[in-house]
Amino acid sequence: MWILDWTRPETWSGPISRIAAAHQFTWDRLIGFAAPLRAEFSALRTAYGCKPTDFASYLEVGLEPFQLEAGIAEAQELFCPLASKEDIDAAVAEALPEASEGRVYLAVDPRELLGDPSQYLLYGSEFLQAVSRALRANTGVDCTDLLTATGTPTILLSDVPLGMIDDGELEAFGVDLLQWLELKGTPHTQVLDSTVTLSVTLPASHIVGCFHPRRLQDRFLGSEPVHFSRRACPWCVVEDPSSR
Ligand SMILES: [Zn+2]
Repeated sequence: MWILDWTRPETWSGPISRIAAAHQFTWDRLIGFAAPLRAEFSALRTAYGCKPTDFASYLEVGLEPFQLEAGIAEAQELFCPLASKEDIDAAVAEALPEASEGRVYLAVDPRELLGDPSQYLLYGSEFLQAVSRALRANTGVDCTDLLTATGTPTILLSDVPLGMIDDGELEAFGVDLLQWLELKGTPHTQVLDSTVTLSVTLPASHIVGCFHPRRLQDRFLGSEPVHFSRRACPWCVVEDPSSR
């Protein structure tokens, strides 16, 4: 059994070609793709972008779907130096529709997290960012610097058992795999914008490594890059791909 790592085609190009030929799969005909994929590979290497203030919960629990109650408590604690409890409550209420629906979002290509989704690495969770925007709109208080200064930009690499990923998402990823094989011979430099999602916690035992980007840019604001100091966590075992 193998780990399927998108960034290393040598881990999957042979087996995927064989599966496609055996089952006559093409990138636009992939119904039933999940079963032979699970028979061939034990797990998919994925990347998770976050900005933790400590790593204890990842060590103890693993990667959890967004918990609204914990998110609200985090927002109250984080923003209390800058706004009243009433203003934070109002901003939280406005941000609720933007709270993600309790899934863990994992990128198939870690380099993708360094593009537009680097918002998570710069400012933290989508929910905290939404509360921050509502606070600014309601009170004029700008929390951007506080969000930037809080936590450590972190990309955690995990090996997700294929049994935890829905058939539909594996088939959608199959499109990327087979399209790449059709174009075989082109450099494997294009960053893939593809995610898989989990509705349950991924146990910490599946986390295999991490890196902490030290230079990130807010593509929407077009500002100067933000630099972060060197930081280590229990999984720091891999090279930062942005430094290559
Ligand atoms: Zn680390």
